[in-house]
Amino acid sequence: MTSKKQGKESRKLDFSTGWDYAPAPQSSADITLAKRYKHFINGKFVAPANGKYFSTINPATARPLAKVAAGNARDIDKAVKAARAAYRNVWSKMAPAERGKYLFRVARIIQERSREFAVIESLDGGKPIRESRDVDIPLVAAHFFYNAGWADKLNYAFPTRSVKPVGVAGQIIPWNFPLLMAAWKIAPALACGNTVVLKPAETTPLTAMKLAEVMQDADLPPGVVNIVTGAGDTGAALVQHPDVDKIAFTGSTQVGKQIQRQLAGTGKRYSLELGGKAANIVFADAAIDQAVEGIVNGIFFNQGHVCCAGSRLLVQESVAEEVIRKLKDRMETLIVGDPLDKNTDIGAINSKEQLERINAYLKIGAEEGVQVYQSSCAVPDTGFWCRPTLFTGVAQSNRVVQEEIFGPVLAVQTFRTVNEAIAKSNNTPYGLSGGVWTDKGAKIFKVTRDIRAGVIWANTFNKFDPTSPFGGYKESGIGREGGLHGLEPYVTLN
Ligand code: NAP
Ligand code: MG
Repeated sequence: MTSKKQGKESRKLDFSTGWDYAPAPQSSADITLAKRYKHFINGKFVAPANGKYFSTINPATARPLAKVAAGNARDIDKAVKAARAAYRNVWSKMAPAERGKYLFRVARIIQERSREFAVIESLDGGKPIRESRDVDIPLVAAHFFYNAGWADKLNYAFPTRSVKPVGVAGQIIPWNFPLLMAAWKIAPALACGNTVVLKPAETTPLTAMKLAEVMQDADLPPGVVNIVTGAGDTGAALVQHPDVDKIAFTGSTQVGKQIQRQLAGTGKRYSLELGGKAANIVFADAAIDQAVEGIVNGIFFNQGHVCCAGSRLLVQESVAEEVIRKLKDRMETLIVGDPLDKNTDIGAINSKEQLERINAYLKIGAEEGVQVYQSSCAVPDTGFWCRPTLFTGVAQSNRVVQEEIFGPVLAVQTFRTVNEAIAKSNNTPYGLSGGVWTDKGAKIFKVTRDIRAGVIWANTFNKFDPTSPFGGYKESGIGREGGLHGLEPYVTLN
């Protein structure tokens, strides 16, 4: 058994369980990244109108990986024109079964190249390879397969209605699940006969550019998918373009509200997937060890960069001490470090800015008088890292309970009755997800009915499936993605 003191000094040997893991790095030797990536417009890679590029870095090393084009309104205009022409002349006229064949082809190519995609996702975004390999990329392929299946069955999806596409969709995505968010948006849009212009996040554009290669390899007709990289103003230019029929946005509530204001009165359709502050509710009758594992998965998975993360824990008072003790023990075993190491549980924080935001909340928590507990693991010297963190002794009104932190930080509260748990769970501006842990089916039904959130897991957490709709209540957004409901934003029904 390694002593705690020794463990603190040595990164690899610090586990209170006494288990030492040899490094198990996933090789990135066969990954080829271009020095720089242009926009993908009308089936070709096109230089940016202003000739400017910016670097995307590896957050685990803070070193640049490649340069990508900095899009402006002229690039967006070019992409929208290509999307419009492809919509009018090719994609909306194509037999639905043919559209489906393209999507099946894209799904299969992603499966064939899945390891490459997983490595690039981890390099560019900082998430552990175990997650990009076992969660993100398989789900990307699954979303293309699932929606491919709908392409020629839309009349069954919406029986007795006449189903038409919406037109050109502008799609803006965040950095926490880069390729998965692209798949959530592109696959249903294309299945329903729309064409798209996608704007990836500034810090994680690389898998989207690799997806552009897949679109070429699949012989997708030019202009059906266009990808313009850039920053927030590139996204804003897409929102403001007069010839876009629909905006699909996933990101922060702040930007989502701004987009909603800009779209008011334009007649454009929109769906918004925004922030969250979900509570995991643990009742005394729950299987405690299983619940602790679910809590850990709920908040430390993907560094807490998850909109539906279980960032609050509501635990019944009689088991609070036990749950917190077990949680701390489990946190001590979590490995923070190299995202490409298969043993890593918590990878790099996505960017310096995001780490600063998380650190600001750690300070706010301390100033609000809550107790801050962090695991004792060491973290690498370069790059952006945050140890798994607990806030205890918090009040419902604390900012760390009300506001989304988007990092591996969990706020713990207690409750006595079912109604108190429900009231506390609902007492935030958000309503994206939630979790309930109990042995009693009746309690599950009561709690899931009364919590105002789009997704609620019972005795599990963070499980995703392309057949399940996903989306928020309140300030967590409008509209659903995934499942049959996820087709609705992309069709006009008469
Ligand atoms: P963000 O700052 O809102 O950015 C999201 C996307 O919008 C990025 O591509 C961003 O470009 C772009 N953007 C920024 N300002 C814009 C503007 N004025 N107009 C149009 N586009 C603009 O969010 P983020 O920090 O990347 O992502 C984290 C947030 O996303 C969290 O709040 C999280 O909860 C939420 N999220 C929600 C879901 C969901 O399904 N509900 C899923 C994942 C994430 P840049 O990258 O250049 O800033
Ligand atoms: Mg990056």
